[in-house]
Amino acid sequence: MQKGKIKVQTENIFPIIKKFLYSDHEIFLRELVSNAVDATQKLKTLSSMGEFKGEMGDTRIEVKVDPKAKTLTVSDKGIGMTADEVKKYINQIAFSSAEEWVEKYKQQEGNGAIIGHFGLGFYSSFMVAKKVEIFSRSYKEKATAVRWECDGNPEFILEDTEKQGRGTDIVLHIADDSEEFLEESRILGLLKKYCKFLPVEIVFGTEKTTRKETDDKGEEKDVTVEEPRIINNPKPAWTQKPADLKAEDYKKFYRELYPMSFDEPLFNIHLNVDYPFNLTGILYFPKVKQNFEVQRDKIQLYSNQVFVTDSVEGIVPDFLTLLHGVLDSPDIPLNVSRSFLQSDSNVKKISSHISKKVADKLEELFKNNRADFEAKWDDIKIFIEYGMISEDKFRERAKKFCLLKNVDNKYFTFEEYTNHIKTTQTDKDKKVVHLYTNNPEDQHSFVDLAKERGYDVLLFDTPIDSHFVNLLESEQENATFVRVDSDVIDKLIRKEEEMLSKLSKEEKDKLMPLIEKQIDGESFNVIFENLSETEPPMLITQPEFMRRMKDMSKLGGMNYMGNLPDSYMLVVNSNHPFIYKVSEEKDEATRDKLIRQAIDLALLSRNLLKGEKLTEFIKRSVELI
Ligand code: ADP
Repeated sequence: MQKGKIKVQTENIFPIIKKFLYSDHEIFLRELVSNAVDATQKLKTLSSMGEFKGEMGDTRIEVKVDPKAKTLTVSDKGIGMTADEVKKYINQIAFSSAEEWVEKYKQQEGNGAIIGHFGLGFYSSFMVAKKVEIFSRSYKEKATAVRWECDGNPEFILEDTEKQGRGTDIVLHIADDSEEFLEESRILGLLKKYCKFLPVEIVFGTEKTTRKETDDKGEEKDVTVEEPRIINNPKPAWTQKPADLKAEDYKKFYRELYPMSFDEPLFNIHLNVDYPFNLTGILYFPKVKQNFEVQRDKIQLYSNQVFVTDSVEGIVPDFLTLLHGVLDSPDIPLNVSRSFLQSDSNVKKISSHISKKVADKLEELFKNNRADFEAKWDDIKIFIEYGMISEDKFRERAKKFCLLKNVDNKYFTFEEYTNHIKTTQTDKDKKVVHLYTNNPEDQHSFVDLAKERGYDVLLFDTPIDSHFVNLLESEQENATFVRVDSDVIDKLIRKEEEMLSKLSKEEKDKLMPLIEKQIDGESFNVIFENLSETEPPMLITQPEFMRRMKDMSKLGGMNYMGNLPDSYMLVVNSNHPFIYKVSEEKDEATRDKLIRQAIDLALLSRNLLKGEKLTEFIKRSVELI
């Protein structure tokens, strides 16, 4: 037996490890199982190179808890360690890297922005254990097994021991304050979280399974057997070649990733890069629907199949965090702060690569099957619009396949749409005026008037659309966008010929205060417009600029504008016979009633007439008929 003292500067690093990693104690299990996987993979490599001539045999890694002995054991059948290797790898390398890590962590204290904690490795077991034992036997012929023990001081024991078979058992004697890690359900949960796709099978306990068996008489029977419970899928879809996978395999993998999700993904992108960085993964387009209540943080980040985090912001462009799926890259530095991550050149390359691949895939879908692309458009629209707003490169790519949808459910590319409306909707200043609605129901009368003129009306009905409209306007020269209800149709698209007014200036001046009196209490600005006789006597419009600013600030969280009252205009059609009639009316009570009736009709057509005003309107209408 040999006793020794681990050489470290800090007298005792264990309390420090424990203190600093408080919230993340659970990662010890990931570290230990990862080490076991590495040891197994190393032996496989040696075997394939002919340096290990024995049988690989069963290489499953086993995790066991013994609540009575208060131990948790991770066993592998990998390369194992000789006494010298334990001294070198555990006492010197592992310990010094743990110390180095603690030094680094101390400096970062306060910004607390570490993810992963990779690199702490084996010593993280002291976060939960008061004593750790290693039983190991090297794969090398005639190797003697060794036992190492350390109870949290830099002092260790190393001695020869008996051990069946090759490999390593790491035995943690769980500390009193960490007994949660002796609970089967807790360990099962952790294994499922961190080890679900590790490349070597991991066994934890047993489970009952039913299978069909034929007995002596040749009859088929259901037999229930207790079998080792395998935690992981060692060959997850993303590690396989895209050519070997069918659509159904991708869907199956989606369900494996999100067992709780009932939605099917729309389509997927299989990433497979090995130069100039290493990246594999599968990204899924989920059904996003018309709102922004999509769940972010559904992408899981792995490093060589070890789960690292499900918060990938900084690694993928913001708009891509709306996607689902997995990314696996050993090239993403994992034990650094987020701000560092964002400036890391590998991370930047990976990020723009993913963005490019996504654009490629969308373009391919658009080109290969336009009908299918259109059918999916409503679900992916938010995503693409968001991408175009936030990423310049993506915007350039997306211009080819981004669609505009009109109120008749027809889809156009930008180019197609411009051609579609160019002749009819170019105004006298040579601007192509795009009309849109965010609510074809509420703005029905305006949509109708526009269509009567032979104009087309686009549908922009998501919260992000106000920003998107702004983007389109700034990108396209000679194009403007106006909501159909922002003005009367002739002013939305101004043509050369101006309508004359039947009502004289004097008559307007006389009528104005009478109308204003009737809208007392409602914040409308009244204006006269020379519209055609076929248009309504009065209209309520909502000017584009203020409304768009308001919508945009609502989404951007700048509430000072979002809270402003809506500003409406009451447009009076100075050419309508009714208005003419009102201005001639001598009886004051009748005149007021008529004015109010016309205002109410305008409100009604916009679904703005409510409560007491609505009741009064109905009473008055009954009287009038
Ligand atoms: P890392 O895994 O990052 O190298 P660790 O502190 O986890 O750091 O482990 C240090 C070294 O100890 C490993 O590199 C490996 O050589 C050895 N080791 C740890 N666990 C095992 C194991 N289960 N089997 C064989 N060797 C191991």
